[in-house]
Amino acid sequence: MPEAPKDISMVSDYVVDCNLSDTNTKALQFIEDVTANADEVQKRVLAEILSRSAQVEYLKRHGLNGRTDRETFKKVMPVITYEDLQTDISRIANGDTSQILCAKPISEFLTSSGTSGGERKLMPTIEEELERRSLLYSLLMPVMNQFVPGLENGKGMYFLFIKSEAKTPGGLVARPVLTSYYKSSHFKERPYDPYTNYTSPNESILCQDSYQSMYSQLLCGLCQNKEVLRVGAVFASGFIRAIRFLEKHWALLCNDIRTGIMDPQITDSSVRDAVSKILKPDPKLADFIQAECSRESWRGIITKLWSNTKYIDVIVTGTMSQYIPILDYYSNGLPLICTMYASSECYFGLNLKPLSKPSEVSYTLIPTMAYFEFLPVHRNNGVTNSISVPKSLNEKEQKELVDLVHVKLGQEYELVVTTYAGLYRYRVGDVLRVAGFKNKAPQFNFICRKNVVLSIDSDKTDEVELQNSVKNAITHLVQFDASLIEYTSYADTTTTIPGHYVLYWELKLSGSTPVPPSVFEDCCLTIEESLNSVYRQGRVSDKSIGPLEIKIVETGTFDKLMDYSISRGASINQYKTPRCVKFAPIVELLNSRVVSNYFSPKCPRWVPGHKQW
Ligand code: AMP
Repeated sequence: MPEAPKDISMVSDYVVDCNLSDTNTKALQFIEDVTANADEVQKRVLAEILSRSAQVEYLKRHGLNGRTDRETFKKVMPVITYEDLQTDISRIANGDTSQILCAKPISEFLTSSGTSGGERKLMPTIEEELERRSLLYSLLMPVMNQFVPGLENGKGMYFLFIKSEAKTPGGLVARPVLTSYYKSSHFKERPYDPYTNYTSPNESILCQDSYQSMYSQLLCGLCQNKEVLRVGAVFASGFIRAIRFLEKHWALLCNDIRTGIMDPQITDSSVRDAVSKILKPDPKLADFIQAECSRESWRGIITKLWSNTKYIDVIVTGTMSQYIPILDYYSNGLPLICTMYASSECYFGLNLKPLSKPSEVSYTLIPTMAYFEFLPVHRNNGVTNSISVPKSLNEKEQKELVDLVHVKLGQEYELVVTTYAGLYRYRVGDVLRVAGFKNKAPQFNFICRKNVVLSIDSDKTDEVELQNSVKNAITHLVQFDASLIEYTSYADTTTTIPGHYVLYWELKLSGSTPVPPSVFEDCCLTIEESLNSVYRQGRVSDKSIGPLEIKIVETGTFDKLMDYSISRGASINQYKTPRCVKFAPIVELLNSRVVSNYFSPKCPRWVPGHKQW
């Protein structure tokens, strides 16, 4: 029977440095074993977490009394959301080092792109979680190798970035999970492995300045273009950002390749040193890149510049699916590969059929990563995204949670995790649908994040936040006797890059003075100021979201929208204006009735860290 990695030595034993095919075989065997024995592994994972944490305050508070069996755990422990943990998390952030959630010391906070009260959620983590994340990463290429062999003979051009970090009042670092991973010795000091042989030097990935990081990663990717067999980023939005950066800066990059001297704007000395080992004068390559980039159409640019590329490794499931057409355009339809499903709370699983179409991708949860439970999702008129503030579950609903091996094919569930790092029956907020099974372990399609209506990059805006932001903005209209009759929104990722939020507003104008454009611009900015810190970071620091736009539509537009929905079968009694639209004909209908539009004139305020520190 397989062992769940019990301690660090087991994990590193597992990823022993034997020859590649041995390593691949072992990785695949591990997947076979843990999925074939999914329930036993899950039982053991839970018992292990609970016995280690027997003395932690949180479990004692709920009266678990050192029990480690599933039945007692399910009877005694509540299913919770982040808000339920906020007091405990604040204590940890403020320096309380007692065993509040976890017996092992909290090593840092991972700042999730999910927010609470407008701020990133803080997920406690422990040192050994890095081992678990590394284990999941180590399974990806053995899986891939079954479908696309030979990848060990070349490099991956991956655009990877770190983000700013902050310190809590108690001195713990708070940063995104990938920043934590890239800065760890697991990544920085990884032994040579043909599968983690990237074109980007670590120094470029670890450069805090996003311009210098992107520039140098692209430069290195271009210099080694013949060696590149796969390209990617974490999310599709990040990869497209790199291509758009190339569109803007290819002339400078070509100049560097021609002369072998890096642009003086790159001032980070460690980046310069690292790149100097790769950059050599190569006028022929510079001519080639210049010729390709000067063409009017950039269709297929990826396959032209990196002609040996076999696939693009980016997540295009969930909200990222909006980027599929543009990726297809730039790559002439290269396979888009979604390898894994993970979060700050926990890394969950991987895609065992990486060549499947994005719409059919399913992730197999790896039973050693955490203890998983599933809350059935009862759809309301086919809409999971309707306004719903996270609510606590009643006793009956708590009983509905099922274990990993008991989920039903075709049914949708909300994922609930119990982790080694101190989360117990925690609702992640993702809705998944069972698409099949690998042995006893289910495979899930990612359906959506609960409540999220708008997303461009890692921002996740829900209806309540949108509603509050609009409410704040319309105060600007009062003095003009103008009021908002209806509104909806749209994440526009096609007409501008980076994409931006669009709000469609229908107004009732009762005053004699028209509303000046500057007032609508103020409305745009007020909405942005009111949105959560992940959105504002995307605008200010990552520059991954463009200025918000308000489009004023003709009177009667929202009636037309209702007529259209009813003509397509919506019930007239139950019709509610959708607060976000995605369906192309509806977006077209709205766009055809725009009378004026306004953009946010500047970036909203954003500073690294948390509001309270
Ligand atoms: P964060 O906590 O900021 O790391 O974000 C984690 C969230 O990103 C998950 O809970 C999902 O909502 C989303 N996510 C992660 N991986 C995937 C994936 N492969 N497909 C779709 N969404 C994903």
